[in-house]
Amino acid sequence: MSKDVNTVGYAISKDREDTLSNYQEEFYIGDKIYLDGNSLGLVSKRAEGALMKVFNAWKQYGIDGWTKGEFPWYYLSQNLGEKLAPLVGANPSQVIVTGSTTVNIHQLVSTFYKPTSRRYKILADDVTFPSDIYALKSQIQLKGFNPNDALIRVESKNGMLLEEEIINKMGDEVALILLPSVLYRSGQILDMKRLTMEAHKRGIIIGFDLCHSIGAIPHYLEDWEVDFAVWCNYKHINGGPGAVGGLYVNRKHFGQEPGLAGWFSSRQDVQFDMSHDLQVDVDAGAYEIGTPHVLSMAPLLGSLELFNEAGIEKIRKKSLDLTNYLIKLIELELNKYDFVIASPLEESKRGAHVLLEHEHSASICKALKSYNIIPDFRAPNFVRLGPVALYNSFYDIWKTVNTLKKIMEEEHYKKYKNTRDIIA
Ligand SMILES: *Cc1c(COP(=O)(O)O)cnc(C)c1O
Repeated sequence: MSKDVNTVGYAISKDREDTLSNYQEEFYIGDKIYLDGNSLGLVSKRAEGALMKVFNAWKQYGIDGWTKGEFPWYYLSQNLGEKLAPLVGANPSQVIVTGSTTVNIHQLVSTFYKPTSRRYKILADDVTFPSDIYALKSQIQLKGFNPNDALIRVESKNGMLLEEEIINKMGDEVALILLPSVLYRSGQILDMKRLTMEAHKRGIIIGFDLCHSIGAIPHYLEDWEVDFAVWCNYKHINGGPGAVGGLYVNRKHFGQEPGLAGWFSSRQDVQFDMSHDLQVDVDAGAYEIGTPHVLSMAPLLGSLELFNEAGIEKIRKKSLDLTNYLIKLIELELNKYDFVIASPLEESKRGAHVLLEHEHSASICKALKSYNIIPDFRAPNFVRLGPVALYNSFYDIWKTVNTLKKIMEEEHYKKYKNTRDIIA
């Protein structure tokens, strides 16, 4: 980066060079700078258009919408799985849009966690998202074991995990591993390829939660031979609040009975025979449970078009450019104000967001919002900034850091209580 990196002119010149800048007008952004796309992505015009098309099919066809119209609902989960497949690096048969992250963890852990008296533990980590841990604990209990004994959580240090330490915990007693691809707070990327290889050497099934990486970084799940993965589609994928989630299952597991079966786990051609003997679907469709939430899937048809057009490699490149620039400006402009960058500085280890630690983080987030800049607060004392390649600009980053500087200089944050709101 050049000397004048902290000038607005530099930001504007970077935006001129940006080959993804035309995607900004695909989104409804309004007059804010939105840096929370890693919690809830913004709506695009194409997502809106797709939702209206599916909605209108309901108006026009009623029940026949399941098989008629541009996007017949009966095949929507598969259709969207195909569109997501390039983002996870897998053959489409291994990907399906269904459930939610938490439900899909329950589904796949109940399928693949087959504890024996010797090999009965699940390996996770102490900084993952709470829902993942709650689901693992209940699965352990359902199988008749005690989570205090059967759930191992690898300890983090300063919000980061060491692959070496995870591998050290892959003992004979471990049956299954579930880890995040990108940690939701620090944004650290785990080396999924290496961890999968090491797990398999020891005969352990391994799955990843891709919530913070899907749509932001490329994955090669099939090449890495990952056993299973789950994710939500409302963060970087911009599928809308409560958008239906996704899952991947490696083809070597095809044909296994789902832990949680329902009539949508059936082969589609015989589903309406209404037999009481389930004929399990031949691919990832086996892990669907009940009727798909069609209206919460529809926006994905439009949203995923944008990803497949822009290309995930290009999205990753711009995302790194944005977070590098953000880190650089924080170092240059905010060095007086006790912020600690709590995300990896090394590109290959950094996901798509930057975490800042500061004792007044909750107040600082509220002050930023008063300037129409939308970060999020993560307990206990972090500001999380998630610039999104498809709709954030270098100018947004410049403006954010300079606004932060003003808030600190003028002590504007002191006007707000340093406590989190009900949703943070
Ligand atoms: C966002 C997120 C979830 C949320 O799960 P839902 O079932 O969609 O509510 C779970 N795990 C991780 C790691 C997340 O980032």
